[in-house]
Amino acid sequence: MTNIILLGPPGAGKGTQAKRLVDDRQMVQLSTGDMLREAKTSGTEMGKRVADVMARGELVTDDIVIGLIEEKLNGASGGGFIFDGFPRTLKQADALGELLARKGKTLDAVIEIQVDDAALVARISGRFTCRTCGEVYHDETKPTKASGVCDHCGGTELNRRADDNADALRTRLVEYYKKTSPLIGYYYAKGQLHGVDGMAEPDQVATAVAKLLDKR
Ligand code: AMP
Repeated sequence: MTNIILLGPPGAGKGTQAKRLVDDRQMVQLSTGDMLREAKTSGTEMGKRVADVMARGELVTDDIVIGLIEEKLNGASGGGFIFDGFPRTLKQADALGELLARKGKTLDAVIEIQVDDAALVARISGRFTCRTCGEVYHDETKPTKASGVCDHCGGTELNRRADDNADALRTRLVEYYKKTSPLIGYYYAKGQLHGVDGMAEPDQVATAVAKLLDKR
């Protein structure tokens, strides 16, 4: 069993690669962004509290996301956990280390998906996903084969995220560079950091990720 972090700015392809690892290796994706969006949609107290922060592209408080992850670590882990969009601050990284140690689990690799800033804006502005299976599409680079229908599961609810707009994206990038990018040094110092070229096609990125995991 392998537990990994996918690290990278918004639009790097973390969600896309996580989905592949779920399909190919029966790993379990733990996306704090998905968990928060679910809380928002189902209208929980916490969901209501975080809605505005998320819409602006700011980070929600560490305590909330650490709590969400802690709950999930008690659930099934399949071929291992993929932490997608978590940790995003040094405090979250410390908390994850402690939680895993307490549960007798290890962190096996941190994979940084490296992408140029200019590409992130283009990727995010055209992005939409299938509400049913989470498959990610793009208006120009990956449209659905049939208009309005997911290629993967046939779902017809295709959705654009409220924070995939120019203003929120700018804030998300600033948050990433200020609060999340220090994790690159944090995990490098621990000898756990591995970089992959996120400018390559998704298949090639998946191959690079698979190689890294198989080497372990
Ligand atoms: P994502 O889907 O990972 O891009 O996350 C969407 C939004 O959810 C972010 O812009 C934050 O507002 C919030 N969020 C997700 N994960 C975290 C986290 N680990 N720490 C703080 N905020 C988060």
